[in-house]
Amino acid sequence: GFRMGIVGLPNVGKSTLFNALTRTAAAQAANFPFCTIEPNVGEVAVPDRRLDRLAEIAGSRQVVPTRMTFVDIAGLVKGASRGEGLGNQFLANIRECDAIAHVLRCFEDGDVTHVEGRVDPVADAQTIETELMLADLDSVERRLANLSRKVRGGDKEALQQERLLKDAQAALEEGRPARVVQIAEEDMRAWRMLQLLTAKPVLFVCNVAEDEAATGNAQSERVREMAAGQGAGTVVISARIEEEIAQLAGDEAEEFLTELGLGEPGLDRLIKAGYALLGLQTYFTVGPKEARAWTVPQGVKAPQAAGVIHGDFERGFIRAETIAYDDFVALNGEAGAKEAGKMRVEGKAYEVQDGDVMHFLFNA
Ligand code: GDP
Repeated sequence: GFRMGIVGLPNVGKSTLFNALTRTAAAQAANFPFCTIEPNVGEVAVPDRRLDRLAEIAGSRQVVPTRMTFVDIAGLVKGASRGEGLGNQFLANIRECDAIAHVLRCFEDGDVTHVEGRVDPVADAQTIETELMLADLDSVERRLANLSRKVRGGDKEALQQERLLKDAQAALEEGRPARVVQIAEEDMRAWRMLQLLTAKPVLFVCNVAEDEAATGNAQSERVREMAAGQGAGTVVISARIEEEIAQLAGDEAEEFLTELGLGEPGLDRLIKAGYALLGLQTYFTVGPKEARAWTVPQGVKAPQAAGVIHGDFERGFIRAETIAYDDFVALNGEAGAKEAGKMRVEGKAYEVQDGDVMHFLFNA
């Protein structure tokens, strides 16, 4: 599955957000630095109203959403790249994630201690990015040194790695994260294998006061500008509100959201933004037994998409019967879509589209 690491300075609202996301009290929120020491892991259903619509049409007995994993990663402070605070563990935990949700404190509250004694989310973001860039620079230099013998021997893979490491090094030395480096398609695999912390996609999560959740504030606006300049995403959220919503029943939650002028829970927006950031999309399998959503990368081919369900589906792939979501809904299900000629038969080269309703045929 896909893993999103929640990072940020102490006391910015990470645990509050994580708790709201996973509706668990396991990650205890407390008003002092370093209260979240163990990385906490939680699985979250990806909200998708299309799935409920499909299940309704097909009369599916079960609805199974796709899931995303969130990891609440222990507090980082200045000096973490040199092993201060909970530094080393923090860095190792980030390495295992596919993307980073970077929580920034954009709320004022005299009762909640700020580690730096002031509210400045842009400076906070730089504090953490600097630590991550220093950690990357360190690992890039070590790897370059380790490669030198193979490079002299003319090893092709080593030469590719060296070239990519040098590109990363150049950016990092200018104080820029590795994610700004332009990577050619054919280098993508090798680039990912380097597992650089600052190459991971970042979503800045602006934690604002309750009454600013719908509008954002001057601080979240500054973050948005910064993010736009470095290929990162931004979401405005009030962790406190999300915490309250997480404790409400469905219709109560709807009412509360309307009162606050919010269309949907911030957590839904966060998950959707994470999805977009990671270049993910959803396809569906729909039948009387169950309607289910599956997560695949954008641009995935039909056999690899089938492989997410079961390895045999990919190995023995013959073809896929495919109905676009809009056709499925407009024609009231599979039978109607088939009759109208909207059920397509697709082969191995088919690029799965977001919202496709798929049925795979394979050799067992
Ligand atoms: P972490 O160290 O980043 O995990 O931060 P926590 O989630 O433990 O939050 C630290 C403190 O800030 C707790 O007392 C939270 O209740 C408080 N807090 C979190 N989000 C907000 C918010 O949006 N507004 C206010 N006023 N306090 C918040």
